[in-house]
Amino acid sequence: MTAHVSAEVLARYAEGELSADDASTWPVEAHLESCAGCREQLARFTPAPVLALLESTGTSIMTATAKGPRPARRRSLRRLLHRWTTWSMLSWAVMTATAIAAAFLLDRAFPLRPSLVLLLAPVTPLAGLAIAWSRHGDPAWETIAGTARAGIDLLLRRTVVVLVMVLAPLFAAGGLLGTDPALWLLPCLAFTAATLLLGGLIGVSRAAAVLGGGWVLTVVAPALVAVRLPVVVQTGSVPGWIAAATVLTGLALLRTGDHQRLTSWK
Ligand SMILES: [Zn+2]
Repeated sequence: MTAHVSAEVLARYAEGELSADDASTWPVEAHLESCAGCREQLARFTPAPVLALLESTGTSIMTATAKGPRPARRRSLRRLLHRWTTWSMLSWAVMTATAIAAAFLLDRAFPLRPSLVLLLAPVTPLAGLAIAWSRHGDPAWETIAGTARAGIDLLLRRTVVVLVMVLAPLFAAGGLLGTDPALWLLPCLAFTAATLLLGGLIGVSRAAAVLGGGWVLTVVAPALVAVRLPVVVQTGSVPGWIAAATVLTGLALLRTGDHQRLTSWK
């Protein structure tokens, strides 16, 4: 309907003569939705009892709102949390802290065996990255992937949270054991950068699984069998880890665009 609704029809509509299931009501309502002029005219035809009812309803709502409880002010903290992390990372954080504590206690009980803290440090952030950036770990991933902040911006924020949660217990364990911080910090950063770099191509979770699994199979397992600390986690390999961490971080920053694609969430 392009023409305006006639005054006669508006008056009948206001009086309730046009019932809701009447086919002639639909075009009137469709027109009223988009025409302010006809809505204004309709207001003039509205019967006094209806106007009185609207007035009293409005007054009661305003009174109840003014007397009611104040709105809860917790949203800003929640919003801040969602900007940096997801609740699904909480269980991972507890599990990782427990694993590092267990490794520390074993290292202290068996000082002659290869240090579990050093062997596990490089891969401690990987499970966190996999949970923070995966279709299974984040129930809202589809919504997040569609937002303007999705991609490297949000991924880096979550990576920072993962690193803080991993480095704090590692720092405590390393300090108590008297280990050189470079031996656990540099491999940890290098593996994080490698996961971000490879994750852009095959998905962050898959990259974490490939790199973590590879490290456990080729370094951790042989070290435990041979009862000898491998060269890669001894002081001589620190320059190599510095180079690896620098190059991998540079490459990961060059390839940030990869995380705009949905494959990054695999
Ligand atoms: Zn109209």
